[in-house]
This record gives sequence, C-alpha cells and structure tokens, in this order.
Amino acid sequence: CCALLLLTAACGVDRKPTGQSVAPRNPADKPVVGVILPDRASSDRWEEQDRPLLESALNFAGITPLIENAEGDEKKFQSLADAMIAQGVKVLMTTPLSTEGGATVERKAKQAGIPVINYDRISLGGQADYYVSFDNLNVGELQAEGLLKCLGNKPGAQIIEIQGAPTDNNATLFADGQRRKLGPKYDGGQLKLVKSQAVDNWDPVRGKATFEQILDDNGGKVDGVVAANDGLAGAVIEVLKARGLAGKVPVTGQDATLEGLRAVLRGDQCMTVYKPIRDEAEAAARLAIAVARGDISGADDLATGNTRDLVSRRDVKSVLLGADLITKSEVRRLVAESVVKSADLCAGDV
Ligand code: BGC
Repeated sequence: CCALLLLTAACGVDRKPTGQSVAPRNPADKPVVGVILPDRASSDRWEEQDRPLLESALNFAGITPLIENAEGDEKKFQSLADAMIAQGVKVLMTTPLSTEGGATVERKAKQAGIPVINYDRISLGGQADYYVSFDNLNVGELQAEGLLKCLGNKPGAQIIEIQGAPTDNNATLFADGQRRKLGPKYDGGQLKLVKSQAVDNWDPVRGKATFEQILDDNGGKVDGVVAANDGLAGAVIEVLKARGLAGKVPVTGQDATLEGLRAVLRGDQCMTVYKPIRDEAEAAARLAIAVARGDISGADDLATGNTRDLVSRRDVKSVLLGADLITKSEVRRLVAESVVKSADLCAGDV
C-alpha cells in the first residue's frame, strides 16, 4: 500500500485539532458574520476545509458564523448576499464566482454600511475592505516548476493547459504565474503549447470534455498537462487512464486535496500545491472578528499586504500567504505535519 511510499509516516495521525467552539457568554449580543462560499463541484476544499475551519475560528471568538454555498450559481450568490445584508450581518465574507457579481454585492453592502472581506478570490472593480488569499502568481509558478521537473528533458514536448474559470481572478493569476516559467520555453520551441483552455466554474465534468476534445483534435498526442487544480487534474487523469496514458503524461494540480494527494502517490499526477487553508481561514476570521468589534485599526494591523486592483485603481489591504510545491516525496511531510492522515491517504486505490 502507499504506506511504503510514505515510509515512516505514522498511520492514523489526525488533522490538527480545530479551535474549540465556546459557549457564548451573551448569546443575544453575538454578532453574525456572513460567509458565501462559491460551489461544491470545483474542489472539495470549500465544504471540507474552509467551512469547518471558518466556523470554528468564528465560534471560538464568540461570533455566530452564517455560512452558505452559492452552488456555482451567480443568482444564488446574489440572493444569499441580499438576505445577509437584509439581516444586518456585521461583516460579509465572500468568495465570488465572478468579479462583476462580487462587485455588485460589495456595492449593496457598502450602501448598507456592511464591511466586506474577499475570501480567497478578489472582485476586481469591487469595494471590499480586505482581501485574504495566497500569493497566487507564485502558485502558478510552482505548477510550472513541477511540470518542468516531471517532464525532464523532452524537446518539443506537447503541452495542453486546462485552466480555471475565466471569471475567477485567481485562475488568471495561476495562468500568469505558469506563463512566466513556461512562456520562454514555448517561445524558444523547447515546448509546444497545443492549446490553453479555460473551464467555466472550474467544473471537472466540463474540464474532462474540454481536455478530451483538445486531445482528439491533436491526434491523441500529449506529453504534459497543466491542470489548474486537483479537480481538473482528476478529470484529465480519467481521460488519460482510458487511453493507457495515466502515469506516463505528467499532470499538475493544486489544493492538495485527498484525491489529489492520492493521485500524486499513485504517480498519475505529477504534483499539487499545498496552500495552508487553515492559516487562510484563521487570518480571515481574525480580520472579521476585529471588524465586527469595530476595531478597524486592529484589522488594518493584520492586513499588512496590498493588492492592486487595476480595475478600480486602488490598493486593497490584504493578507497573502505562501504555498508549497508537493511532489511524491513531499507528501510524507504533509502527513508528518498532520495536514492529512496516512490512513486516509492509503484508503482507496493508492
Ligand atoms: C481557488 C482554488 C480552487 C478553485 C476552484 C480558486 O479560486 O484558489 O483553491 O481550487 O478556485 O474552486
């Protein structure tokens, strides 16, 4: 089993305990922080990690979390936000499906005097007060680095890129980061870009069909695939598997989901990117707590970074965290750090 791959990793290590929820001292006074997550299909992270982490961090501070999921539906995103604004949440935290949709919500929240935190995805042209995310350009660079390492020396290797949602600014940043490293190789002829295609909503079902089509159009030939996250990587791997190519063609990923890590251990996926979502959720919760308590200078002290929004021509106060490249040999580290249990990793067909 993969225990061998993980070598000395102890089995059954639990994920780090989350902050314990505390009974409210005065329930009537508990402020509510509204959170809108984007969907379920694009990544396991939103429901399996972000939701419980945000919930426990907010509860811990005596704040009532009201966490909803827009289910990939822009209309639902708007109606959830309208309801939270009407209810008078103290702070609204959003992971927008599109920058336009996010900006619309921010305009309404501003009118109602409700501060907004952009969680993981920024709404360009919006009015959010804070932004909490990762260095997403670097995430893209790590994906390219991982691919180049897995490809080795393969002159003229044919690359297909399956990118994230065109409406998600992160997807643009990931692609820009990849291009910093791969662009010169495409230009110099060391690699050949067959096609780069964005996938609406990061939907793995669409991603699979998109990849299949590009592959067919290219006569079934591919040497490497940039897949923008683990969900899309899984879709690509299904197609490769059906053609006897899984494990032979390196595929990138992102999010270090359980499925992604298993695929890395199996050798079907070349790498993933580990973004410490616990730190992201806790940073966002800390900001929300300070803002909900009216401690704006405290919140400003937490958000020491800046993100330039070229659309609204302003800097958004930010917390931007670092990410790590994970190949087979680094999965062990994630187990040792209790990010993931080896028992979970080794379950299934690893
Ligand atoms: C997030 C990724 C996630 C993707 C799809 C991006 O905005 O940064 O972690 O995989 O959305 O949900």
